[in-house]
Amino acid sequence: MKPTEATTLNFSRAAKLLGISDRLTKRLITPKREVKVECTIAMDDGSPGTFVGYRVQHDNARGPMKGGIRFHHEVDHDEVNALASLMTWKTAVVDLPYGGAKGGVTCDPASMSDAELQRLTRAFTEGIHDIVGPDSDIPAPDMGTNARTMAWIADEYAKFHGWQPGVVTGKPIELGGSYGRESATGRGLLYALEAYVEDVGQQVGDLTYAVQGYGNVGSWAARLIAERGGTIVAVSDVNGAVRNRAGLHLGLLDEHLKVTGTVAGFAGGEAFDKETILAESCDVLVPAALGGVIHRDNASDVRAKVVLEGANHPTEPEADAIFEAKGIVALPDIFANAGGVTVSYFEWVQNRQHFRWEEDRVNTELRRVMRKAYADLRAVQRKHACSFRTAAFVLAIERVAQATELRGVG
Ligand code: NAD
Repeated sequence: MKPTEATTLNFSRAAKLLGISDRLTKRLITPKREVKVECTIAMDDGSPGTFVGYRVQHDNARGPMKGGIRFHHEVDHDEVNALASLMTWKTAVVDLPYGGAKGGVTCDPASMSDAELQRLTRAFTEGIHDIVGPDSDIPAPDMGTNARTMAWIADEYAKFHGWQPGVVTGKPIELGGSYGRESATGRGLLYALEAYVEDVGQQVGDLTYAVQGYGNVGSWAARLIAERGGTIVAVSDVNGAVRNRAGLHLGLLDEHLKVTGTVAGFAGGEAFDKETILAESCDVLVPAALGGVIHRDNASDVRAKVVLEGANHPTEPEADAIFEAKGIVALPDIFANAGGVTVSYFEWVQNRQHFRWEEDRVNTELRRVMRKAYADLRAVQRKHACSFRTAAFVLAIERVAQATELRGVG
């Protein structure tokens, strides 16, 4: 199923429960603006390289649009579109004064030099600089991009509009980034899970975990959960997977990762086929790599009781139906991984106030936001007797619909 079809299906299910009109449904589904730009740069060997970049601005009823920029070979218009709409719902679930957007460039960053990546980032920024800005649309990092990419975007944007650090979030600390941003999505996952397990009478530290994708999101979630006493029994990345029923020693794993660039080959556990990590025996499965990884053909293999969605859109709607039948609880992406955009919001607030927060304040505020969102979500879930995913869409659509109606048609 295409990402937009899956998102539209989740949207429609919730819109039906809410009983919103067809007219409003159409307005909420349709993106505000979709931009596609050609980015031609000089490659290191002197040849021209042409890439395609996208920025989809989905909705701004609740405030400026917010969403990451992905550099990946599978980026296409449909994926960016779906991810932009997920950002609208995500910012609404955690009640940030933002709308949703997403961007991407179809490229393979691993095969490009730093100089090529910088030229590509600048070319893409040149293509979209007139539609982004601190009051309109604020990009951030996503897969294949990082703080350094954001620094290049801010610098290129400054050539047209003057230095405005609030144009992007996820920047280096030296350029107005926020303490706590790097770990924010992983930390948000911990707080989301903590709220849920407390609700059902458990503790984070009593459970076992398998994590697909040991990048920014997966590795921080694993580290913070392990700090709470949770047992990380398996992790994977694009190169391989490693398991240890007694718990992986993450300090040693991180040293191995630093030297080799991958979790594969780690001596503190047993290697296994990375494709089977979703079926590992554990209490909580954390998909934190790509979208669409859990689908109708493998959902019944999942042995975890809880799926904590670090990645965006890791679970297809058909898999949700299988989870519901098996009693597996999915804490959906638009709630669980909202820690990143929440701390991005804190960064933007700090930029606008020219005032830096200490990391403790960032983490405390993040926990407050995630716990409040969980309480809101739980109330909706009880009211409609539905899954957490449907509840998250109901909560978000209700908030965006109210803002849209209040603003009227002009
Ligand atoms: P990242 O590039 O830092 O890490 C991705 C990880 O996934 C890497 O370890 C990579 O090796 C691994 N991976 C790739 N293909 C894999 C495969 N087939 N099997 C197992 N592992 C594989 O990216 P990230 O920032 O950690 O983002 C991960 C996911 O989380 C994405 O879906 C992203 O959209 C989502 N997300 C990220 C943030 C954020 O703040 N970074 C916020 C919200 C959601």
